[in-house]
Amino acid sequence: TASNGDEVDRAKQATVESSRFRNKKPTIFSKIIDGTLPADILYEDSKCLAFRDVNPQAPVHFLVIPRFLLPRISQATSEHVQLLGHLLLVARNVAEQQGLTDGYRVVINDGVHGSQSVYHLHVHVLGGRQMSWPPG
Ligand code: IMP
Repeated sequence: TASNGDEVDRAKQATVESSRFRNKKPTIFSKIIDGTLPADILYEDSKCLAFRDVNPQAPVHFLVIPRFLLPRISQATSEHVQLLGHLLLVARNVAEQQGLTDGYRVVINDGVHGSQSVYHLHVHVLGGRQMSWPPG
């Protein structure tokens, strides 16, 4: 939950507008960001939100997404450095809050070979069971 609700509201609106301005295609995650699609939100702030994956692949499986619509990690540039760092730190903090003391896996799928299905950048965090390597 946010410490400053007004700040989050302003960020929601600004992100929707900047995404439209940049002519990017909204995805189902845009609806979670603007609140028109319900989600089990674990954390949110002015830059990002974390919510449970609707089809969990582990006892704990949540996604961290930027409010800003960057479709995929392969489109990131140096202008996204701070945002990307923030997403990882939020992933770490929510993992701790979820009690993942024995570790977890952080995944970003990109494009066809990465099996990306939603083209709004998201960091997966999976934990609560033993992971194997290599992934499928
Ligand atoms: P990707 O394959 O890396 O693009 O992952 C997309 C993830 O989003 C999948 O794990 C889906 O289960 C998840 N997902 C899709 N729609 C929703 C939703 O409405 N709420 C929560 N998670 C979703």
